[in-house]
Formats: sequence, structure tokens, C-alpha cells
Amino acid sequence: EYPVHGRIDGPIVMIGFGSIGKGTWPLIERHFDYDADKLTVIEPDKAQANFLRQHGLNHLQVALTPENYRDVLGDLFKEGKGFCVNLSVDTSSLDLMKYCRDLGVLYIDTVVEPWAGFYFDTSDNAQRTNYALRQKVRNEKAAHPGGPTAVSCCGANPGMVSWFVKEGLLTLARDLGRDAKVPADRDGWARLMQDLGVKGVHIAERDTQARRVPRPRNVFVNTWSVEGFIAEGFQPAELGWGTHETWFPENGHSYDEGCQAAIWLERPGAITRVHTWCPTPGPQFGFLVTHNEAISISDYYTVGDPGSPEFRPTCHYAYHPSDDAVLSLHEMFGSGKQQTKHHILTEDEIVEGIDELGVLIFGHEKNALWFGSRLSNEETRDLAPYQNATGLQVSSAVLAGMVWALENPEAGIVETDEMDHARCLEVQRPYLGPVEAHYTDWTPLQDRWEHFPEDIDESDPWLFRNVLAT
Ligand code: NAD
Repeated sequence: EYPVHGRIDGPIVMIGFGSIGKGTWPLIERHFDYDADKLTVIEPDKAQANFLRQHGLNHLQVALTPENYRDVLGDLFKEGKGFCVNLSVDTSSLDLMKYCRDLGVLYIDTVVEPWAGFYFDTSDNAQRTNYALRQKVRNEKAAHPGGPTAVSCCGANPGMVSWFVKEGLLTLARDLGRDAKVPADRDGWARLMQDLGVKGVHIAERDTQARRVPRPRNVFVNTWSVEGFIAEGFQPAELGWGTHETWFPENGHSYDEGCQAAIWLERPGAITRVHTWCPTPGPQFGFLVTHNEAISISDYYTVGDPGSPEFRPTCHYAYHPSDDAVLSLHEMFGSGKQQTKHHILTEDEIVEGIDELGVLIFGHEKNALWFGSRLSNEETRDLAPYQNATGLQVSSAVLAGMVWALENPEAGIVETDEMDHARCLEVQRPYLGPVEAHYTDWTPLQDRWEHFPEDIDESDPWLFRNVLAT
């Protein structure tokens, strides 16, 4: 009853078997034809060993490092073909993708991950940005175009949300009575966004998944990688910087090298709040946590010269994680200490809630359109095993990215903005629950507390100055 989307010849190597790896494996099994004895999981944590053995999966219990990755992967990919699915933390996406391409192996990841140490070992915040991480991948693409496909940052966000931006723009074009012909290239998409009068995009997410037991003190609870969330939460806040902005944050820094589409703020993303909107709560605070898609979307939709563009949207994450994760962040930043106990909520203990993840496309004639997935944990349990709703939004994007890579094996290094969004969503959609478009007349100037003066500019509700909560 499940479609098999293609055959993977040669070994499949999954790196990392945490919340996302464990959820992706059953989708690989379900949707691809491959030699099961050639699938290997590289996972240093022995807690996964029993599960892997019981499911007949080859397990290499080793942590990849800059010193060993060539030996380990070279050995597994001796045949010079196959697929490397990187769902780990603390491994360099860039090094792994370069080596896989040298070996003739397809590659996918969900984030531009650095080797261990990057996120905390320097006090030079400019060095700790996603801009720096992403630009190195873009430089590698420019230096070595084409060749074996390596899909960069293909999870839910970054990843699926880039496909939602395109679907959202086509929906908006249709609803405005415009010609909704699908643009053929990057320039066409950027001009469509500009012509529709869009000023920017929030990656607007509300995760309401909850378990019955209250969060114990000193435990960081999340619905996906705790390590990953702490790392990105401590990076500086970053956002794609649009051409409609008339003010510049005092603690902001721009770039004169690379794509120049983004700026960063001298403040950790996970305590930088923004006013945003999702269908379930309506207006809410989100955290401006740095993400690859904030930069890639602003870059992709730039019209004109990158240094002085004619049009560019503002774009950033506006994340309200699960309530337990909000409390965990509050405790961590307040105490100045990372919790040593970590817990990822499983699909079995979650008793209610959905992950509502979409793009809020704003500033146009119809004010704002939220387009996204509203997947519940309950529905997730019926759709696929070993993951909660957050996990399935990510793992199904990995599946879609793998299908696209198999169908386009010589596309070189790509980000999800550069892929066929319709094909990817076709593969992914059965796993997303309700995918809906919601218009709202809410703006960041509404529903504020009026008792204290604020530094806002009422001439344009969608200025970042009004979105940023002080
Ligand atoms: P997790 O923390 O549950 O699992 C990560 C796994 O990597 C762990 O099992 C760990 O043992 C393993 N690992 C650690 N060091 C390693 C090394 N040196 N070599 C090999 N394996 C190593 O994380 P997760 O929730 O499964 O997330 C995995 C990755 O996916 C993270 O990088 C995370 O940021 C990313 N992610 C992306 C999205 C998205 O939407 N784009 C969403 C969720 C997670």
C-alpha cells in the first residue's frame, strides 16, 4: 500500500540514530528498494544498540571525528555508490558532503552541522553564526558545481518550509486573481514574490505537544534534539534582512562578503522574542532562533545585486517550542547553566498537542497568509512508528529529499529552495496531517500591551522594529 519511490544501489549509511534517525529509518524501509544487509547505522550511543540489533540493522558504534571520518566512510562506501543520510550532531556536514561527493555517493542532511566544539569554543560571535556555516557550503557549491547530488538542510525547517513558501506564493497569486503560472527558475520565483508585494516571511511554529507529567526541574525537555536546540539557541539571533526595513538594530551586524542576505544580532536567539502569528494561538511570542532557512530564503528571493538589491524579503524563525521546552530554556538562561539531564518527548508519553509549522507570508494586499502543516501526535502514531509529530515533519522531508536526489543524481550541492517543491511535497504530504492556508488580518501592531511606551514605527506594521519584542 506504500509507494516504493526508487531503488538505492549500494550501501545506505545512516549517521546518527537519535530522534530523527530512528524516525527516518522506517520511512526508508517503507519507500525504497535496497539491499537491507547493506544498511549501516553509525551511532556512538550504546543506548541504541539493542534496538538496532533487534531490528537486524548493522551498527557501527563509533563517533565520527575529523580524524576518522574518511576511514570509516571510505570503508563503508568501497563500492563508490550508495546514499549517506546524515542525521547526527557534532559532525561536519561540509566535510562529510565533500567526501561523499568524491566517493560518488549521494548525500543528505537536515542542518549545516559543524564538528563538536564550534558552537561553544569561541567567544567570537560572528564565527558562530549560521551565515558563516552556510556560506562555506555555498562557496563549495560555487567552486565545484554539478556532480553527485548532496542535499543540504532538508528537514522540516530548514527544508520543507522552503517548499511551503513556494506553495504559499502560488496560493496567494491565485487568491489575488493573478497569473499563477509556476515560475521556471530562481529569478522567476523572486520576481513573483516581489510582484505579489510580499515584505517578508516568518517561519511561524507553535508546538503544543505535552505529556501528563510536569517537567521535573533541571531537565531540559524538548520534542527533538535537546543538544541541537541548545546549540542553535546559544548562537546569535540571525535573520534575512529585507529591502523594506527602514531601521537597523543597534546590536545588529551586516556583511560585505558572501550572499549578504542576512544580519545577526549580539544576543542569543533563544531569548530574542518576536511577535508572530499561528492559526491555533493567533498572536504569540516566538523565539528568533537562527536557522539556515532564514538566510537561504532571503538569498533565494533576492532581486538584483546582492550588495544593493532591488527586492529582498525579511525572513526569520519565530518558534514557540513545546511548553516544557520554553520552561527548560527559561531555567537554563536564568541559571547560566545547561541542564545535564536531557529528555526528548516520545510519541507514547505525549497525551495531546500538535506541531503547527508553517510560513507566515506577510506585507501583501491580503496582509498575511500562514501556510503549513498542523500535524498532531495522535495522527503521527497512525502514520509512522518511533517518532512524535515534530519528528515526522522532519523525517518525511528527509524521505522527500532522498527521492529527489535519486531522481536527480547529478545536481551537485543544493538547498531545498533549489529543488522541485511540487515533487517533494507530493512525496511528503501523506505524512503532514492537515496542510492548510490561513489568511489573517493580524499585524505586529495589534494585540500589544499599551501601558508602556514602545519603540515602534506605525507607518508600516511589518517592519522588523515592530516585530522584535523589547
Ligand atoms: P538527537 O540528539 O536525538 O540525536 C543525534 C544523534 O547523533 C545521537 O544519537 C548521537 O549519539 C549522535 N552523534 C553524536 N555525535 C556523533 C558523532 N560524532 N558521530 C555520529 N553520531 C553522533 O538529534 P535529532 O533530534 O535526531 O536531530 C539530528 C540532527 O537533525 C540534528 O543536527 C538536528 O539539529 C537536526 N534536525 C533538523 C531539523 C530540521 O527540521 N531541519 C529538525 C530536527 C533536527
